[in-house]
Amino acid sequence: MEGDKQLELKFDDVALLKSIELHGRKLKEVICVEEMSELTKEICKDIRDETRRDNLVEEFSDVLICMRMLSLIHDIQPEEVQKWIEFKIKRQIERDEKYVKKLKEAGDI
Ligand SMILES: [Mg+2]
Repeated sequence: MEGDKQLELKFDDVALLKSIELHGRKLKEVICVEEMSELTKEICKDIRDETRRDNLVEEFSDVLICMRMLSLIHDIQPEEVQKWIEFKIKRQIERDEKYVKKLKEAGDI
């Protein structure tokens, strides 16, 4: 796992907006739910050692496209998302530290 590489991706917003306009936001949101489900399935297969990496990456990519579409549909700005990401990761760090402390107190590590 590489921690220093960030996900910097390019999306064709013009094409995505055209597609949202053509099919409607409701259908696009349903498709996003379906794509998230497909990624969920690949993650489950990975846990069972039955997935192929390219299938997982394909479904991961589908979900990222959907996330971009949802951000366009709901006018979600990067700054809003960044704020939540920082909050959630900070909270996760705090929870992890508490968990490690608890394990140490129990003599499990
Ligand atoms: Mg898919």
